[in-house]
Amino acid sequence: MSDCLFCKIVAKEIPATVVYESDRALAFRDINPQAPTHVLVIPKAHVANAVELAGAGDGLADDVLKAAHAVAEQEGVSEGGYRIVFNTGADAGQTVFHVHAHVLGGRSLTWPPG
Ligand code: 5GP
Ligand code: ZN
Repeated sequence: MSDCLFCKIVAKEIPATVVYESDRALAFRDINPQAPTHVLVIPKAHVANAVELAGAGDGLADDVLKAAHAVAEQEGVSEGGYRIVFNTGADAGQTVFHVHAHVLGGRSLTWPPG
């Protein structure tokens, strides 16, 4: 999608600090980190939200979740624990409508989230 921020990051039209890449997923640091590790993991293809990601039905959701875990391992938070968040819809705080998993870790995370 030509007007999508994250599609532009995939296309390298907007710079990002990429920390992990697979055939179909890309992971880069959030520009406004909320934890020592705050990485966004996206499918390279434009998919609007989590249910569309699952609905793709071709293993794309698996690829994104595996990439999220690979990022956590790489960041050294996989054993201590980390959080994967898909904000879905405006009330949940979704602002970019290209699905993305927030991978958060490196500090003690409170529950419930705000
Ligand atoms: P959402 O609120 O949709 O769940 O998450 C969008 C995230 O994208 C936010 O955490 C925000 O900080 C991040 N973000 C917005 N614009 C950019 C950008 O240009 N580059 C990067 N790396 N992250 C961005
Ligand atoms: Zn997009």
